[in-house]
Amino acid sequence: MALELGSDVRMIRGIGDKSAKALEKLGIRTCRDLLNHYPRGYEDRTKIVPVAELSEEIGRVAEVTVTSPVRKVRLRSGKVLVQAEAADDSGSLTLNFFNQEYMKNVLSQGETYYVYGKVSGAKFAKDMTNPEVRKKDGEFTGEILPIYPLTDGIRQNDLRKAVRAVLKDTLDAVTDSLPAPVRREHELATVKFSLQNIHYPDSEEALALARKRLIFGEFFTLAAALGMRKNLRKGESTLALDVSCREEFEKSLPFRLTGAQSRAVSEILEDLSSGRVMNRLVQGDVGSGKTAVAAAAAFTVIRNGKQAAVMAPTEILAAQHDETFRRFFEPFGVKTALLTSSTRASERRRILAGLESGEIAFVSGTHALLEESVQIPELSLVICDEQHRFGVEQRTRLARKGNEVHTLVMSATPIPRTLALVMYGDLEVSIIDELPPGREPVKTYLIGEDHREGLYGFIRKTVREGRQAYIVCPLVEENDDLELASAEEYTEELRTRVFPDLRIGLLHGRMKAKEKNGIMEAFAAREIDILVSTTVIEVGIDVPNATLMVVENAERFGLSQLHQLRGRVGRGKEQSFCFLLSEAKGETRARLKVMTATNDGFRVAEEDLALRGPGDFFGKRQHGLPEMRIASFSEDVKTLKIAQGAAAKLLEEDPMLEKEENRLLKKAVKSLSDRLEENR
Ligand code: ADP
Ligand code: MG
Repeated sequence: MALELGSDVRMIRGIGDKSAKALEKLGIRTCRDLLNHYPRGYEDRTKIVPVAELSEEIGRVAEVTVTSPVRKVRLRSGKVLVQAEAADDSGSLTLNFFNQEYMKNVLSQGETYYVYGKVSGAKFAKDMTNPEVRKKDGEFTGEILPIYPLTDGIRQNDLRKAVRAVLKDTLDAVTDSLPAPVRREHELATVKFSLQNIHYPDSEEALALARKRLIFGEFFTLAAALGMRKNLRKGESTLALDVSCREEFEKSLPFRLTGAQSRAVSEILEDLSSGRVMNRLVQGDVGSGKTAVAAAAAFTVIRNGKQAAVMAPTEILAAQHDETFRRFFEPFGVKTALLTSSTRASERRRILAGLESGEIAFVSGTHALLEESVQIPELSLVICDEQHRFGVEQRTRLARKGNEVHTLVMSATPIPRTLALVMYGDLEVSIIDELPPGREPVKTYLIGEDHREGLYGFIRKTVREGRQAYIVCPLVEENDDLELASAEEYTEELRTRVFPDLRIGLLHGRMKAKEKNGIMEAFAAREIDILVSTTVIEVGIDVPNATLMVVENAERFGLSQLHQLRGRVGRGKEQSFCFLLSEAKGETRARLKVMTATNDGFRVAEEDLALRGPGDFFGKRQHGLPEMRIASFSEDVKTLKIAQGAAAKLLEEDPMLEKEENRLLKKAVKSLSDRLEENR
């Protein structure tokens, strides 16, 4: 019986229950799944190479004659080793077969064979271990073979055979979700050609065409899925807000908005007055002034008699928002509050009542805001700070406390633009690409231990001039006692030996939120000269008088993280400095060097992404995107851009994918959307 795309893999000849179980571990249940299980590599058996050109990296075929008697050796481990010398005109090698006793009967001296494998060993004493051997009868002809990711219970050859059978029976039934006009415009191969050639490429050229098509298709479907989500949301209507209070608010600020801030405010206010629910990301480098932009949005909402909330990932940051927003809103008599898990019970009761009655119009907080008991009946705007720390799920949970709530996400992680387009494909994006005037770029230096004494001198000088400094010690491991011990010991050394005359504070992850806030407040009030800290200062802290940052063991941080850290200085008008201490050599050193070359968060992010890939870049699973089968967010950026553009264009013509020619795409988008939901 012929296989169909939906057939269970057990229907495939050679796949029994045991193999089926193994396949299931790889997420493969049907023939269709198997077609989508792409090879992780290929073996090039298309040509026979001289022994001299056998490689340690790529499996290749050589044609050799056995030049010695075939020996059988019993090893001390009990294993049997069959061994023979072999050669062609270009060189010789030893063939080793472990636990394949029968090879003694397969090989004979003087005969010629094809052997396939990789070699190891020195130039003149090559070994090939467990090669595949064929009699010279033309079996190794003209095929590039796939190498599949495997799991226990299934062998490479079983998979190859199964895929071959599935291709033969089902390829004709495969439909192309990529609309034909898009395929033609971008000169892409058909899906049938691509599937055939991704598994069994006719040639390297054919493989390249297949890859290109499949990568494009993956990105295209993702971009279309996110774009459609955005279009769906756009449909949600809500009360149009009166945005005429903008001028009044801007006049109350102690500074003039930068052009970029002003543009972002315009975009937001346009959303708020449109009668549609806003889902917008404000992306801007550290210090670009996202808070004032968010405050303009919140002020508008409040002026319209509604409530707004800001949610931050840490208590320190929430407390700081509370302070900043209070300063913005106090002149207008707007009541604000701070709600975290360390808010005292009586205070908490008061705040909950105030929120419920609408008396408190603006609340800052942490995850504590999400609790069931927190009622914000007129909630109309949710601001999420540093969103990559929250799941989309949390964002929406807070928004559900009101009706048709506008969402504003603030991100200081400069995500490479191409990636942002996809990651936040379901949000409108405002970019603040300009720093407030008078900011000098932070001068950054990469130094070694030999400069430590000099550095201490520089710290002293900085403090004498009335400034403050951060010293960051890397977190050894989350909640690790070692972290605490080493940070405490180091602080003690600074206090007693290095700077006995200066005021030194310590901030670390094991402290209670109250303690942390106390220290931060003391630092902000200049009661502390030098703040030693683990990475808890990473996000959002704003003390413009701090102009010096030292990062110990800088090699332990990712570039984007270092950039975030560095953003804590350079917040005032004075020249700020950042010293990265590291003894690292080679590639790690080259990576750190990027920091000394640029202050542009986007460039740092691009480098970081290129070096580490998106998984590490965002922390595992934090990017909220589905696993790609073949496309790579870091390697296929060019294709990503093109696919993104193509999807945007298509959605412009057909926002809900209702046209007949887009029917199959819509189906693919739907199934991807389901996967996205699972991920989030
Ligand atoms: P971030 O984008 O990192 O959240 P903040 O909103 O914390 O940045 O702003 C950083 C600092 O810049 C704050 O001290 C803020 O008061 C100040 N600031 C914001 N906008 C301007 C501006 N247009 N002119 C001058 N200073 C500004
Ligand atoms: Mg901020």
